Amino acid sequence: MNKDDCIFCKIANGEIPSATVYEDSVCRVILDVNPANKGHALIIPKEHFDNIYSIDAETAAKIFTIATEVAKAQKAELNPDGLNILQNNGEAAGQTVFHFHMHLVPRYIKDNVTM
Ligand code: 5GP
Ligand code: ZN
Repeated sequence: MNKDDCIFCKIANGEIPSATVYEDSVCRVILDVNPANKGHALIIPKEHFDNIYSIDAETAAKIFTIATEVAKAQKAELNPDGLNILQNNGEAAGQTVFHFHMHLVPRYIKDNVTM
């Protein structure tokens, strides 16, 4: 896919409005439009990388650092019992938007998630 047609490039760079919960020079954190749970957030780098096979280690490290901050903010605001961090690579793994992103999905014991 051409990067010019990438929806997460447009969202990350502010060309398309989104429910942004955090932004810096490297990434934007938004709420998922089709959330698996309340507070489901996506960390999206502003630079386009298709997946983990092409992202550089420095950006990946920055994204994980941001994930620790988002996790703590979710804990403070939503008080979940747990959190899944998920990052899909390739159609075979369920990736549907081919711009690297990390999911943070707060979990609640009452939902009885088994995997
Ligand atoms: P993937 O399956 O590629 O790991 O996840 C893509 C995620 O992006 C899905 O959870 C989907 O709901 C979310 N998503 C797709 N398009 C948009 C959009 O335009 N805005 C927002 N906020 N989320 C989106
Ligand atoms: Zn992109």
